[in-house]
Amino acid sequence: MSTISNHLQDILAAIQSAKVNAACQQEVKLLAVSKAQPAQVIREAYLAGQTLFGENYLQEALDKQATLTELAIEWHFIGPIQSNKTQPIAQHFSWVHSIDRLKIAQRLNDARPANLAPLQVCIQVNIGDESTKGGVAAHELESLAVAITALPRLKLRGLMAIPPPTEDKNQQRAQFKQVRECYDTLLAKGFALDTLSIGMSDDYPIAIEQGATIVRIGSALFGARKKLVEIKQDIKNED
Ligand SMILES: *Cc1c(COP(=O)(O)O)cnc(C)c1O
Repeated sequence: MSTISNHLQDILAAIQSAKVNAACQQEVKLLAVSKAQPAQVIREAYLAGQTLFGENYLQEALDKQATLTELAIEWHFIGPIQSNKTQPIAQHFSWVHSIDRLKIAQRLNDARPANLAPLQVCIQVNIGDESTKGGVAAHELESLAVAITALPRLKLRGLMAIPPPTEDKNQQRAQFKQVRECYDTLLAKGFALDTLSIGMSDDYPIAIEQGATIVRIGSALFGARKKLVEIKQDIKNED
């Protein structure tokens, strides 16, 4: 077996044991985060059985999608969204996890092609109040959820979060619990949600314990990526 195939089996097994340990009932899907990985690596993971892939940077994703058209991949957009990029995102992805303002939701709705299913979306919530990470504050969630629910070409599925990184497991647990509480509050208000997109390579077992239904995993599956400065340079080149 290839390294990616081995990592994939290990991660799927770890997801299962996290569910068993916490007696979780929810289904947990693995989203393979393939930013900064070449198309060939995505193909390898696909051939090992992985079908959900997440990308952060539009131009990089479009290039890889064009190379991989024959694969039945479900593409998820998980990066920050500039309003001048909403049209290609609405055309080329099944899911968007990173909606953080109404204007972006409206533009995605308007651009979603009529021959495709509604775009499946999550609102990104910011529980750490870090100015650098996107997401809406908890108190703004409900009004944004109401507005998105009214958009016919979007289907609101749940919440996504990227809590501030920490190695302290209790801190990780407390942060995911805050996201979970936001999610439960929306459910209690009657929103029909089924998706909690939390957990990355270093913390996904704890995210599952706290109710994750999608874990977004990059480096544990594919190995280390290019450095952040290089990715930032790529984003600049896109503009
Ligand atoms: C890069 C990224 C991930 C994956 O991070 P890893 O630590 O490599 O697993 C998950 N979610 C988002 C939004 C990301 O940008």
